[in-house]
Amino acid sequence: MNGSRQPGTCAPYAASAAASRGRLHPEPEHPYRGIFQRDRDRIIHSAAFRRLVYKTQVFVNHEGDHYRTRLTHSLEVAQIARTVAGALGLNEHLVEAICLAHDLGHTPFGHAGQDALNRCMAPFGGFEHNLQSLRVVDELEDRYAAFPGLNLTFESREGILKHCSKRNARALGELGERFLQRRQPGLEAQLANIADEIAYNNHDVDDGLRAGLLTEEELGATDLFRDNHERVRTQNATISRRAMIHETVRGMINEIVTDLITHSCAALETQVPADIEAVRELDAPLIGLGPAADKRHRALKQFLHGSLYQHERVLAMSARAHDIVQGLFERYLNDVREMPKDHMRRAREWAEQTGDAGRARAVADYVAGMTDRYAYSAYRRLVDADIDEPLMG
Ligand code: MG
Repeated sequence: MNGSRQPGTCAPYAASAAASRGRLHPEPEHPYRGIFQRDRDRIIHSAAFRRLVYKTQVFVNHEGDHYRTRLTHSLEVAQIARTVAGALGLNEHLVEAICLAHDLGHTPFGHAGQDALNRCMAPFGGFEHNLQSLRVVDELEDRYAAFPGLNLTFESREGILKHCSKRNARALGELGERFLQRRQPGLEAQLANIADEIAYNNHDVDDGLRAGLLTEEELGATDLFRDNHERVRTQNATISRRAMIHETVRGMINEIVTDLITHSCAALETQVPADIEAVRELDAPLIGLGPAADKRHRALKQFLHGSLYQHERVLAMSARAHDIVQGLFERYLNDVREMPKDHMRRAREWAEQTGDAGRARAVADYVAGMTDRYAYSAYRRLVDADIDEPLMG
C-alpha cells in the first residue's frame, strides 16, 4: 500500500484541507501552515493543554516524578498514532491534533474525579469528559478576538468527540449526527481512539510495576506480557529489571501497533473507500486490530481493570479524590462568589438563562478545569483544611 505513495503524502481516504467540512467561524487560510497543523498548534498554545501536566492519569501528579500525567499520556498517544498514520497514508497533522486534545476535558484526579462530577451533575444533564473536551475547544478557551474557543476544524472536533449519549448528540447538530445514524468518523479519529487504548494499557503496566502495585508474576497471567517478557529475558539474561520492563513494554507496543498497521492496511485494501465521506458512510470502523491481537490486547485491559484500577491503594486515593471534587462542586454551587470573577459572572449569567442547570454547568466547567494540586488546595481552603492529600501512600 505504501509502494505507490510518496512519503508524507496522504491517501485519498485521508482527511484533507480540500475535503474539510471547515470551521464553525470561517477564517482565511494561513500562508505557511495547513488547517490541521494550525489546529494542532492552537491546542498546544491553549491553557487547558498546559494544565494537563498537573492532572492525574492513574497516579496523582506529585506521587512521583516518573509516572505518566495526562500530558505525557497525550504525547505518547500522539506518538503511536503518528507512526500508524504515516504507514497508512493518513493525515499526521490531524491525528496529532486529535490525540493532543483528546483528554483536555478531563477533571482533576482521573476517573475518580470524572465519576464524582458526573454524579454531582446527574440532575443537570450529567458530565462526560469526552463532551467536556469538545466544550473546551469549542467554548471555554478564551484566547481569540473573533470567536470563542479554538475554532478547530470539523475533523478535529469529530475526532475529539469519541463517544456521546444520544441525548447530547441531538444537541450537537452536524457533529452529533453520526451517533444517531451509527456512522463512522474519519480514519484519523478512528486511529486516535485506538492509539489512546494502546498507550494507556501499556504505560499503565510500566507505571503499575514502578509503583509496586503489580508484579511481573501477576502480569504473566496475560499472554501479551508473558510472551514479550520471556523473549526479552531469553535474549538479555543480564540486563537490569528496569531495562527488562522497558524492553517488555516496548515489545508489547510494537507487537500491537504492527498488527494495527497490518490489519488496517488489509481492511483499507478490501474496502477501498474513495474519500473521507465514503469512510463516514461505512457501518464499521476500518482502523483496528486483527482478532488474535485484539484478544491479547483485551486480556491485558481486563487484567488492568481487575488488578490495577481496583487495587486497594488506588481505590483509597480515588475515595479521597471523590470527596474533594464533590466537596468543591457543592461549595461553589452554594456560593458562586467563591469562584474567580469570570466564572462567577458566567454562573450568574447562565443561571438567569437556564436556572439551576446553567449555574451547575458553570461550576462543573470550573471544577473540571482544575489541576490536581489546585483542587486539593482549594478544598483545604474552602472545605476542610485537615484532609490528607489523595496519594496512594
Ligand atoms: Mg486518553
